[in-house]
Amino acid sequence: MKKQISKARILRNKFYDNNKLNLIMAIMGTTVLSMAILCVPYLMQQIIDLIAGTSKGDWSHLLLIGIAIIFMELFSGICTYYFRTSFSTKAVAQYRNYAFSEFLNKNIQGFHKKNSSTYMSALVNDISSIKEKYLDMIPIISQILICCFGAIVMMASYNIKLTIIAVIISLIPLIASLMSGKKLSNAEVSLSEKNSGYIAVLKDIFGGFSTIKSFKSETAFNIIHHKQCENVRKSQKNREKILEKVNYTAAISGYITLFSILFACVLFSFYDDTITAGTIIAFSQLINYLIDPVTNLPPMLADAKASLSLVDKLGNILDNEENQEASGKLVKLNDSIKLRNVSYSYVDKLSKDTTEISLNNINLDLKRGKCYVIVGASGSGKSTLLKLIMQMLNSYTGEVLYDGIDLRNVSDDEVYKSFAYIQQETVIFDTSILNNITMYQNFSKDEIDTVIKQSGLTDLVNQRGIDYRCGENGSFLSGGEKQRISIARSLIRHANVILADEITASLDAKTSFYVMSSIIALKDITRVLILHDLDKNILEQADEIITLKNGCIKEKGTFKDLIDNKGYFYSLFTISSN
Ligand code: ADP
Ligand code: MG
Repeated sequence: MKKQISKARILRNKFYDNNKLNLIMAIMGTTVLSMAILCVPYLMQQIIDLIAGTSKGDWSHLLLIGIAIIFMELFSGICTYYFRTSFSTKAVAQYRNYAFSEFLNKNIQGFHKKNSSTYMSALVNDISSIKEKYLDMIPIISQILICCFGAIVMMASYNIKLTIIAVIISLIPLIASLMSGKKLSNAEVSLSEKNSGYIAVLKDIFGGFSTIKSFKSETAFNIIHHKQCENVRKSQKNREKILEKVNYTAAISGYITLFSILFACVLFSFYDDTITAGTIIAFSQLINYLIDPVTNLPPMLADAKASLSLVDKLGNILDNEENQEASGKLVKLNDSIKLRNVSYSYVDKLSKDTTEISLNNINLDLKRGKCYVIVGASGSGKSTLLKLIMQMLNSYTGEVLYDGIDLRNVSDDEVYKSFAYIQQETVIFDTSILNNITMYQNFSKDEIDTVIKQSGLTDLVNQRGIDYRCGENGSFLSGGEKQRISIARSLIRHANVILADEITASLDAKTSFYVMSSIIALKDITRVLILHDLDKNILEQADEIITLKNGCIKEKGTFKDLIDNKGYFYSLFTISSN
């Protein structure tokens, strides 16, 4: 729990890092503005008493005050224009950059614990709420407070007894309305959750736009959207109703306070000669700055507190990471990767129960530089096996040993350095082919040319150029082209081990054979390949074929051995050849 406070605190500090001068100047601006505002009732009192003859003043003195008020307003305007805008925008940017870099620091499992829309919502919706209701409000709240204290001091200089009565009357409703803040905080967090649900639906729908159109499912998705929209609306309405209640209570108590104080003023003036007409005018104006906090502060503070709870919410998300204390280092694979009695069952995200066993007591030796092929029916656990070796699944039993080092004791970074994991699903960023291959890291021209050749990209690069922009998730490329780019991206990293899961699924037979052959031809790299098609020419080149059935290893051996055996592999192979 201690740790949870700390990320939220760092996030809050991000508002003020290197940003204090902007804040101080913004507050200075509102302070000067408050002084200007308070000078007005004084000026009025002086003018009225001068006209009524109840005081002996000097017109030039009053003129000077008038000019000073204009200059104070000017100074305050400049502060707001320059420093207040700088403060809040810089605070937002710093908060965003920190949160974003923390998201990137998460490990893959930690990241996927939350829906990505939660992260998007935190950086888009929540932060605008925080800016509007907290950051922008700091100078305004300070202005209200300064005006209030200034007004009390000025009122006291006119009449102490009356001032004490005014302060006491106005305190009562303030306390009452401050208490509704908690409800608003909860409503704010609930709205933020609904917003992220809404973003998740939008992401899903826009991501599958062509599928929706080609299957003519617009109506169904309109309904899905409508439902989410309705959830947000209800939550928004609830929040606004609570806010209105706070506002209403504040306004009513404001009026009651105002009338009570004015009534007290009139009563006092019967007994007290020092209360002049000018004093009552000044008093009636100053009371407004006492009432102002009573009516405006509670909703503002409640709102600010509610938006700070969004900061805490994000802090919790960032803290939830179980920081790995893994310190093991991986060097180049010397001997082998060994799986010892490895078993795994997925955990149902909703019920938290484990599902049927997906890998059952797997024992395997993957020797340095050899090429392995895993085959098995759909759902037999092939992909699970590769993910488990990559340490993308936790709480498996047994061990995965890399030259004897238990991979559980090795940080994700080290694993990603030594292993290249290529999946069937491609991720292409909206940048050049080159950047998509290098992922913005430096490689020599030779290295780049080699992987372009190995992954069958030579023609594409010759036709469109290596700087060709790929489009959002590679929309300017064909499925096969995207897949080859993602293969090139994995090959260029000189990993010790390549784990490839049906990576040629969207390639034609010829390109598929070409790409698989270049991977098989790689020297001194341990490869584990899950094939999309049981291509004899590829299977014959593998050092060992591992056959999985219902999460267990059924058979192992070379293509020739397994065919001769006439066992499970033989039946899989003959079915697929037919
Ligand atoms: P294969 O790659 O051989 O087709 P998988 O390794 O993907 O098979 O899946 C093995 C079993 O684990 C299947 O029964 C599948 O339904 C289940 N499974 C795979 N991924 C998940 C997941 N994320 N959550 C729950 N069950 C899963
Ligand atoms: Mg699979």
